[in-house]
Amino acid sequence: TFKQEELLTKTNFDELSNLDKKHIIHPVAVPKVHASVGPKIIFSEGKGVYVKDVHNRSYIDGVSMLWNVNVGHGRKELADVAHEQMMKMAYSSTFYGYGNEPAIRLAEKIASITPGDLNTIFYTSGGSESNDTAFKLSRFYWEQKGFKNKRKIISLRRGYHGVTVSAQRATGIDAFRNFSGSSDPDILNAKAHLTECELGDKSHPEFSGCIRSIIESEGAEHVAAVILEPIQGAGGVHLPPEGYLKAVRKLCDEFNILLIADEVICGFGRTGELFGVNNWEVVPDLMSIAKGITSGYSHLGGVVMNNRVADVIKEYDDVLPHGFTYSGHPTACAVGLKNIEIIENERLVENAHQMGAELEKGFNYLNEKHEIFTNQRNVGLLAGFDLMKDPDHNIPFEQSKQAAVSVVDECYKRGLLIRCFDFEPGMNIIAVAPPLTITKQEIEKTISILDDALASFSQKL
Ligand code: PMP
Repeated sequence: TFKQEELLTKTNFDELSNLDKKHIIHPVAVPKVHASVGPKIIFSEGKGVYVKDVHNRSYIDGVSMLWNVNVGHGRKELADVAHEQMMKMAYSSTFYGYGNEPAIRLAEKIASITPGDLNTIFYTSGGSESNDTAFKLSRFYWEQKGFKNKRKIISLRRGYHGVTVSAQRATGIDAFRNFSGSSDPDILNAKAHLTECELGDKSHPEFSGCIRSIIESEGAEHVAAVILEPIQGAGGVHLPPEGYLKAVRKLCDEFNILLIADEVICGFGRTGELFGVNNWEVVPDLMSIAKGITSGYSHLGGVVMNNRVADVIKEYDDVLPHGFTYSGHPTACAVGLKNIEIIENERLVENAHQMGAELEKGFNYLNEKHEIFTNQRNVGLLAGFDLMKDPDHNIPFEQSKQAAVSVVDECYKRGLLIRCFDFEPGMNIIAVAPPLTITKQEIEKTISILDDALASFSQKL
């Protein structure tokens, strides 16, 4: 249950809204609209899968905010551990070889739960920093091995890897990739979607845009690494075809290229396995993690690397000129450690698996009932579906209908926060990724709101 909060008066809300409009540029929002309308919601508290705004309206947090609040909102254990660490020593640096116990204990824990011999971590403060770090360490690895030209990084269309310059350039969503004309000439973005062409079929229609053809045309001696999300998130929840991840792993081995798995969304139980790659029994050479490592209670990320990579870096006999002020932040690491303990003790990975099955049942129901609902997919609690005008004939909605945006808005009015993707013509994708603590009843409520929202949108057509 929520705390009994004093309600903000309308005057208070207006004051906050005006201050926000005046002083904040919001990420991934339309600045001109924001500057006139102000914040859509001002959150005040959260408990479990529910969040509340300053008007005392409550919502189901259907995408765990930014797919990161895995253990749900309002966890006292995490507040307590942060409080305790802050009172002891809130912050200390890990530069110059300085250590702190939470960072050390968390590193050991991560090594024990990640697959294969991913045993060593470089800490960052989030996903973008993790990916930029993974690129740098991959290139550094090859440099140390005597391959100075192995520098290029191959990423996938619709992949999302963050907004620092190299991560931005690896992102396969044009608006993000091209924003502000940033460049990193060593990042190559595959033109193909997740396709079966990595399985080696050169006659596949998308072959010329796929990873293998890029390696062949660039020359493997120039390629350092391939990066991909086991399941693409912000590109619209795209699952890899069966056999794809294994094929890419094989491809990387064949051409002596490192494989980086971006587990920023998939990691820490989201997919009903501790890590996304576990669904396909693939072990990458480097793994980027963030988000679910602390469930958003503190900002933390990292690149976990296997012994092959770590051993080469550990041989370097000069100062490693890389690191963030908050690399190995003790409070963030203490929170991370407790967060993983919660995931384990409450069997949240298993719950994600089971509730994923419930969500799938709900989607089956929506699919039966609503003609526009199609292409449902999920792995655990990473789920999505498409809206189409006529799925049987593959006819998308006209852009002017704003189908996905409208359905998300109908959900919002009914107390469900979800997210949509419509960055390509005809694309109307909706993502659902609630906290891993969600119950069957809460899934049913989510489906019931979606049901009403879809009906209301269809009626208005
Ligand atoms: N990788 C993936 C797969 C992500 O989803 C995100 C964030 N949505 C990032 C990287 C970037 O993480 P951050 O926003 O913490 O920099």
